[in-house]
Amino acid sequence: MVEAILYDKLPDLAVRCNLCNHYCEIKNGYGGICRVRFNKGGTLYSYTYGKIDGVAIDPIEKKPFYHFKPKTRVLSFGTPGCNFKCSNCQNSYLSQSIKLKPENLLMSTTVPPEQIVKIAEEYNVDGIAYTYSEPTIFFEYARDIINLARKNEKTKNLFHLFVSNGYFSKEMLEIVDNEKLLEAINIDLKFFDDQKYLKITGGHLKPVLDNIEKVYSLGIHIEVINLVIPGENDTDSSFEKISNFIASISKDIPLHFSRFYPQYKMLDKPPTPYSTLIRAREIAKSFGLNYVYIGNTDIPDAENTYCPQCNFLVIERQRYFAKINYKKEQGKAICPNCGAQLNVII
Ligand code: SF4
Repeated sequence: MVEAILYDKLPDLAVRCNLCNHYCEIKNGYGGICRVRFNKGGTLYSYTYGKIDGVAIDPIEKKPFYHFKPKTRVLSFGTPGCNFKCSNCQNSYLSQSIKLKPENLLMSTTVPPEQIVKIAEEYNVDGIAYTYSEPTIFFEYARDIINLARKNEKTKNLFHLFVSNGYFSKEMLEIVDNEKLLEAINIDLKFFDDQKYLKITGGHLKPVLDNIEKVYSLGIHIEVINLVIPGENDTDSSFEKISNFIASISKDIPLHFSRFYPQYKMLDKPPTPYSTLIRAREIAKSFGLNYVYIGNTDIPDAENTYCPQCNFLVIERQRYFAKINYKKEQGKAICPNCGAQLNVII
């Protein structure tokens, strides 16, 4: 374990963690909501530093990032725990199970940042994705890896991505911005309803919306994903609110509607009907969004990118495979048909 960053000392050996929007006030001897950050004698410790799980090399399209460095390969991993408690979690073995016995973390092997950088170098990946569980809660570890990679001649050009629930604090985002730690963030906008957010995730809607706006305004590449759950967030009104919100920031932000499958504690709901996902995409397009996708299905044409200006097919995708049809000119992705510049970081 290592001492955490971003916390304040309070009276009676209590602390307040400022890493995510829960801002947990933690008494001596207790842990925060994520159950991986503990107060020992007035010092806050991260128990998940280096406790990685689920290591893989993935195509970037799998994260999903469709508009950032298409066709590249990323080293991907997470650590146990999460600051949310979603009853539909797809990685509950990683995110939730440790909450029952957090002391087990101290017994598992620690992988130092040097080793992650070495693996990235050996496997010649293009970047590192901090994913599978919520990277905010292992921010110290991610930050050390990124800073180390940037000092190494062979890994200094790796890009670094967070796949996040968007519940990080403004203090964490400030560090990300000041140190230019991340090139891209995918934020999961789960519901457009605060009550639902609270009931299913334990968090609130507004901080996630604020973070989507802030990340965009900082110039960090952002994509947004919405998992469509039957009976929870599959109404036209929900799709309209999400689409309207994204369009109010930028119509070029890629929006992914993803198909739900019964998981974890949410086994009573069916997979999302294709017709619902197609309707979601139509609604998002009616709000002027230029890049709307449907994920986790085999719906034809659901993952392709078209030029917003002339409708030319600029990227063909099938699951995690991509075929690029755009032109590269002076570091920019250009439609070969009409010459429009696309919102694709190449
Ligand atoms: S990361 Fe969030 S949930 Fe965990 S202790 Fe800090 S404020 Fe609480």
